[in-house]
Amino acid sequence: MSVDTDRMHEACGVFGIYGPGEDVARLTFFGLYALQHRGQESAGIATADGSEIRLFAEMGLVSQVFSEADLANLTGHIAIGHTRYSTMGSSCVENAQPIVVESDLGPLAVAHNGNLVNAPYLAERVIERGAPLTSSTDSETIARLCATAPGRDWVERIRQTMPLVKGAFSLVMMTKRELIAVRDTYGIRPLCLGRLGSSWVIASESCALGPIGAELLREIQPGEIMIIDENGPRSVYMDTSAARNAMCSFEYIYFARPDSVINGTLVYLARERMGAALAEEHPVDADLVMPVPDSATAAAVGYARGSGLPYREGLIKNRYIGRTFIQPDQRLRESGVKLKFNPLPEVLEGKSVVVVDDSIVRGTTTPSTVALLRRAGAREVHMRVTSPPMVNSCYLGIDTARREELIAANMTVPEICKHIGADSLGYLSLDRMIEAIGLPGERLCHACFTGEYPMPVQLDFDKLVLEGARGRV
Ligand code: AMP
Repeated sequence: MSVDTDRMHEACGVFGIYGPGEDVARLTFFGLYALQHRGQESAGIATADGSEIRLFAEMGLVSQVFSEADLANLTGHIAIGHTRYSTMGSSCVENAQPIVVESDLGPLAVAHNGNLVNAPYLAERVIERGAPLTSSTDSETIARLCATAPGRDWVERIRQTMPLVKGAFSLVMMTKRELIAVRDTYGIRPLCLGRLGSSWVIASESCALGPIGAELLREIQPGEIMIIDENGPRSVYMDTSAARNAMCSFEYIYFARPDSVINGTLVYLARERMGAALAEEHPVDADLVMPVPDSATAAAVGYARGSGLPYREGLIKNRYIGRTFIQPDQRLRESGVKLKFNPLPEVLEGKSVVVVDDSIVRGTTTPSTVALLRRAGAREVHMRVTSPPMVNSCYLGIDTARREELIAANMTVPEICKHIGADSLGYLSLDRMIEAIGLPGERLCHACFTGEYPMPVQLDFDKLVLEGARGRV
């Protein structure tokens, strides 16, 4: 298998339920359905019934992966599930999650969202302990480390293991009898706890709770290890003294669903505030404000409110086409724009339009979007972006691109404006972005904009090289 250097990396969605008397596989299926935006490459569910663990994972969308029969075979009262786009590890079915490993304590299933920064070190520890590594995923490494750690029970083993693991990890794990949630000490990726009658639910985002009738109770705290069994949840905590809270700001900007509540903030409202702030920072005399659908819809509503300009839609998105950006191939990404958006010439004809988007990453899709609007009759196109120029790679789970591929790392704002073919371009400032999110800047990770990583990361380190170093690509 070769390394696909064009491959985009992406975060993942994780879900777990401890639900005696419930059809836990089906509830997990619906939970994953709501988390589909977090990863479209593979999906999997594992269930436990007190004596064994069953697993089904395949490449594809949640709706394609599971048949009625597959769900019916996934019996038990505990389940965990995963939707994946590869952050680390190649795109193949062996890397689909959850991963199940065997140990003297019985099987352990793990589903991971995030990205580790010391994966090769951890892989060496696993091999040193004489355990195999069959996939190239961080989650297998974590699972095998836990399985081979010293300790009489799983909680002890997990507590022993987590301090070794560096990077971003929001994990759901399952033993034959317990559901376990773990969040890294920085709290980089989201993870929340919900309640469904007498059942307990863990999910990457709260948007997975409503559809199954569960309610949001709280976030899993940075450094928290929550164990849920027949006695309900109990938590132990890792030492967080060396870590600062560093929730990913890009989750608020782009990645999370707008109907999720993260740290008490409805993502939709954070985006609206970003749009309103952008209208103050980069006003323009135009005829209308429109979003690049769907991710910037809330932000465009905010810009319209802030500017007093009318909100209209100038592009209609085909809802059945995946995110072009995360197709693992550049050619597909480029042709994807036309397949994805259809302009409304009657709305755009002769108009000066403000186009609001959440981010410009590589700058490959934005020029096509601007050109599409011009061909449809727009007189002026003023691009407004609800985040600062992205000048650094993410090493912590949202791998937008390598630094050399980030357009803002290579061009000034006027150069980018010219490159995308817009009449003007304005980015939201860091301060106003932080203010719109509503958390203090010290509690956010904004390394992709500022280079201030919350933990040491190897800046010149190429994740693809790393994969090669692990010998499984
Ligand atoms: P580009 O002009 O190629 O940088 O693409 C910008 C578009 O990609 C914007 O509309 C963003 O909403 C979208 N985008 C940003 N980050 C991601 C990501 N990680 N995955 C998919 N799409 C993204």
